[in-house]
Amino acid sequence: MHPYENIKISLLTKHKKENVIAPKFLKMLNAEIIHTDAFDTDELGTFTRDKARYGNQLDAARRKAMIGMEITGLKYGVASEGSFTSDPFIGLLPWNHEIVIFIDNNLGIEVIGSSKAAAMSSQSKIRNWKELAKFSRLNKFPTHHLVLRPDDENHPVLQKGISNRIVLEEAFNQAIKLSKTKKVYVEHDLRAFANPTRMKNIAKATTDLIQKLKSLCPNCHTPGFQITKIKAGLPCELCDMETRETMERIFTCISCDYEKSEFVKKKKADPAKCDFCNP
Ligand SMILES: [Zn+2]
Ligand SMILES: [Zn+2]
Repeated sequence: MHPYENIKISLLTKHKKENVIAPKFLKMLNAEIIHTDAFDTDELGTFTRDKARYGNQLDAARRKAMIGMEITGLKYGVASEGSFTSDPFIGLLPWNHEIVIFIDNNLGIEVIGSSKAAAMSSQSKIRNWKELAKFSRLNKFPTHHLVLRPDDENHPVLQKGISNRIVLEEAFNQAIKLSKTKKVYVEHDLRAFANPTRMKNIAKATTDLIQKLKSLCPNCHTPGFQITKIKAGLPCELCDMETRETMERIFTCISCDYEKSEFVKKKKADPAKCDFCNP
């Protein structure tokens, strides 16, 4: 039996993340998520810049998990934190990195699941209703909610969670009235419940986390036995030179430092991936 089977795990969120995190813990680990929203997680930072984030992404996730454990009085806690940048390929698409952290106060360990993928995060300055209607059409509104404010991204008067056309029109009329530049700043609401593409990515990070938790150290049986190093250098099938393809993966225990190396099944790399044969 896995050591985490039947345990209760706290989850602090007021953005409905329990909807994707709880079913996965139940199905994959038979563990129960105890949801609490008794602390306002927006105090640890918002995407709309009205509250700066507590530390870095991992600090914020860890803090949320610990507050949740305090509130529920449980020894196990989980929490998530996301960030948005540009995609690593062409740098033009919004790129979402989600982490989900698990803390075990019994063993004094933490394990982190992560997922990086595209998600809806666009912004624009618009001048009239027609431009806003076009923006909303192109950006998966209303399944993805919008935030509106006068002038620019830092105006203090903002309306979050806009999820239908009537509210959108009202919000636009208000914002344009308050604007000095006769422009309205529109952006996606990035809170999990308001952004289904982000929620999907939180689900993926949760799967990654639980897979790591399910993997036990062969030496001391601590959960979270995971890949810590990937070594490239699989030799090319044609010229035998080292390629950038993965040859070996190193697993490390987070508790006893036991290591296991696993070589990939393939003995040779595809010449198409060889810098020498196919530069
Ligand atoms: Zn170990
Ligand atoms: Zn080659």
